[in-house]
Amino acid sequence: MLNGPLVFLDVDTQRDFLEPGGSLFIEGSPAIIPNLARLTAFARERGIPVIATACAHTPRSPELSTFPPHCMIGTRGQERIEATDWPGSLVLPVGEALEAEPPPHLTIQKDDYDLFHRNDADALFARYARDGSTFVVYGVATDYCVRAAVEGLLSRGYPTTLIVDAIRPVNPEAEPGLLTEFAQRGVLLTLTETVLGLP
Ligand SMILES: [Zn+2]
Repeated sequence: MLNGPLVFLDVDTQRDFLEPGGSLFIEGSPAIIPNLARLTAFARERGIPVIATACAHTPRSPELSTFPPHCMIGTRGQERIEATDWPGSLVLPVGEALEAEPPPHLTIQKDDYDLFHRNDADALFARYARDGSTFVVYGVATDYCVRAAVEGLLSRGYPTTLIVDAIRPVNPEAEPGLLTEFAQRGVLLTLTETVLGLP
């Protein structure tokens, strides 16, 4: 059961992944946009903190030897989609630590698909988790960045929930096996509607 304080983890909901014509468009991903919008509005209304990860690459990014250029710094494709955009979000570029108190919406840029490759990721998550919060994960892609986020949270012992109708994989065949594995490792799989119905 999902209870206690929540922290939303919005993974890479950027134009290049979710908009047709984006440079690393994920087939079928526009279908989750209404749920992403509802979750974002819910976080705003309820004062649930949101950590939003964002690929932010340069031509020298090692990741670009594996993936085509995407989410290049300064391009429209690197922006968050409107559904998850949060005016006033505090943006932390790679290499910049959070000096202030954790803000309601924090954008952490990353130059690697695994957000925990950021040197300050452990410290950041520890600050958001200090009241025993559950991390509620959604975004793209299930089999890459979402997977890395969930595995990173699990390996650090954080209570983790995944919203299965607010994620999309690059490879649809990979998703059922991954979700089964996550559930076996203690991830609570839930739906947008269930989260929105929380008292
Ligand atoms: Zn990337």
